[in-house]
Amino acid sequence: MPDTALPILDVRGLKTVFRTRGGEVHAVNSVDFHLRPGELLGVVGESGSGKSVTMMSLLRLLPSPPAEMRDGSVMFDGQDLLKISSEELRQVRGSRIGFISQDPMTSLNPVYTVGFQLAEPLRAHLGMSKAEARARSVELLKLVGISDPERRLKDYPHQFSGGMRQRVMIAIALACDPKVLIADEPTTALDVTIQAQIIELVKDLRKKLGMAIIWITHDLGVIAGIADRVMVMYAGQVVEEGPVGEIFRDPQHPYTQALLKTVPAVRGPRAERLQVIEGQPPIMHDAPDACSFRNRCQYAFDRCAEANPALTPVHVPGHRAACFLLDTAATKEPEAVDG
Ligand code: SF4
Repeated sequence: MPDTALPILDVRGLKTVFRTRGGEVHAVNSVDFHLRPGELLGVVGESGSGKSVTMMSLLRLLPSPPAEMRDGSVMFDGQDLLKISSEELRQVRGSRIGFISQDPMTSLNPVYTVGFQLAEPLRAHLGMSKAEARARSVELLKLVGISDPERRLKDYPHQFSGGMRQRVMIAIALACDPKVLIADEPTTALDVTIQAQIIELVKDLRKKLGMAIIWITHDLGVIAGIADRVMVMYAGQVVEEGPVGEIFRDPQHPYTQALLKTVPAVRGPRAERLQVIEGQPPIMHDAPDACSFRNRCQYAFDRCAEANPALTPVHVPGHRAACFLLDTAATKEPEAVDG
């Protein structure tokens, strides 16, 4: 995939605020990013970093209220998804952008068979007849590695194991041959062996179908072998982005450096979930006017409390990080971070 290809998805200045009883929460703060055709972008950050809310915002999946989109544009295929009608957006979500959530049980409807849930988007968006939709549903279940697909179409979601339900979700997301697939922590609820199988499946499907993928995860280790580019989020902002090899070889932001130090060298059945640096991402009651990471950063200095660092180009094209250490060219190798 050439670096110069025009983006299929181009997000600019996205801002999302939640109105809560305790005041406003600035969950997404001027996020810019793009996705090129066929590319796999890994979006990484701890829970509460704003990665899922960013993706839900661009698909307009957040309930409003309490969510409020304050600003930004989301250009997809020549349309701004924030400006089109709800009906147009339903068409886009159902056919041209597929979405896989963390927990298939909350996305699959327990009272309908898997066959019905696969056929529904095919009939609604592609106008297929019942027989055509059934044939395509069988194909889709085969594609995601579910054996005996004709029989399994009659089963309900609870009759599938966790890993198989996630495969069904992937089949539904792929039903209309989307150009973009957004996968929100798709392996988090699964055990390590099944996780590895789902990752292999997505790699294989990407090769076969050529769609672009956004893979959201809290675990940098998961995307090491599959992503082209990585975007690291913290407190609703992008703090670093770049080619995957560059992010692993030469991370510039102290948060990325700390995240990397927590990736287990050997992932096995005993590997634990990512344990990150002490403390939590802050709840942003105001738009950021200082570095949001300063309370957890071992390099913080006066300036970090006075302004919010912007993304700055590093050495390699496409690699950018938001840290004042880059301005002083004094980035140093961090000490080991406990955890
Ligand atoms: Fe740390 Fe300051 Fe860089 Fe923020 S701007 S990551 S606080 S050194």
